[in-house]
Amino acid sequence: MKRFIGKIEESQAIIEGEELNHLRNVLRLTVGDEVIVVNGDGCDYVCQITKIDKNIAKLSVKSKKNNKNNAKNQISLFISAIKREKLELVVQKAVEEGIKNLYIFESQFSTMKLKGEKLVRYQKIIESATKQCERADFMKIELLSFSQMLEKFAAHKTRLFANEREGEEFDFASLKSAKDIAILVGCEGGFSAEEKQQILQTKPENISLGTRILRAETAAILLAGIASLFSGN
Ligand code: SAM
Repeated sequence: MKRFIGKIEESQAIIEGEELNHLRNVLRLTVGDEVIVVNGDGCDYVCQITKIDKNIAKLSVKSKKNNKNNAKNQISLFISAIKREKLELVVQKAVEEGIKNLYIFESQFSTMKLKGEKLVRYQKIIESATKQCERADFMKIELLSFSQMLEKFAAHKTRLFANEREGEEFDFASLKSAKDIAILVGCEGGFSAEEKQQILQTKPENISLGTRILRAETAAILLAGIASLFSGN
């Protein structure tokens, strides 16, 4: 059954905008057809189309069920702002990997200055990736300063700091029982010595991902995937 992002209002669902275009003009669905509507609350709503016109599709909710693909664990990915198209790739992959929260922050060597309006673009990527990987909960995304990042990172029970050149080997199998995990990755220029010092004061696992220097997006996607898989997310 086809999946759409939409609004749920009690026993009715509404699909508009690009999602309506896809339903009406691409898939040519009509009144009476059944689809799954997702609004990000973690549930799949099986709905039947009752009305379609060029601006809106109205549907009646037939059933509501929890989605088995939602993020099971509290895994937060913290990444310093990297170039736009690379960051958008990280947003998309983090959704597919079941990441719960994505925090983007500025650090001394960040290439991109954080602007709030980018969140609209990221939210679109999150919704599209949520639909594609058949999740029903939307990953949360937030822009932080460096000090806000430190505070949120330190609040997680298991803290994985991807530290090229100084990190150590880590037994990823130990993540089997971890449910509250934070992953921290630097931007293209990495972290300054002073920033690394502040991060290490939060007593994270100081992790090497091997001797090769990975791109920030590679390190973020790799470590998020490892944490998600090993923790049974
Ligand atoms: N400018 C840094 C340097 O040359 O040392 C490289 C930064 S790297 C491109 C971007 C980020 O990816 C790093 O801050 C780190 O978080 C992560 N990373 C890259 N390679 C890694 C590795 N082998 N082990 C752990 N983390 C790595």
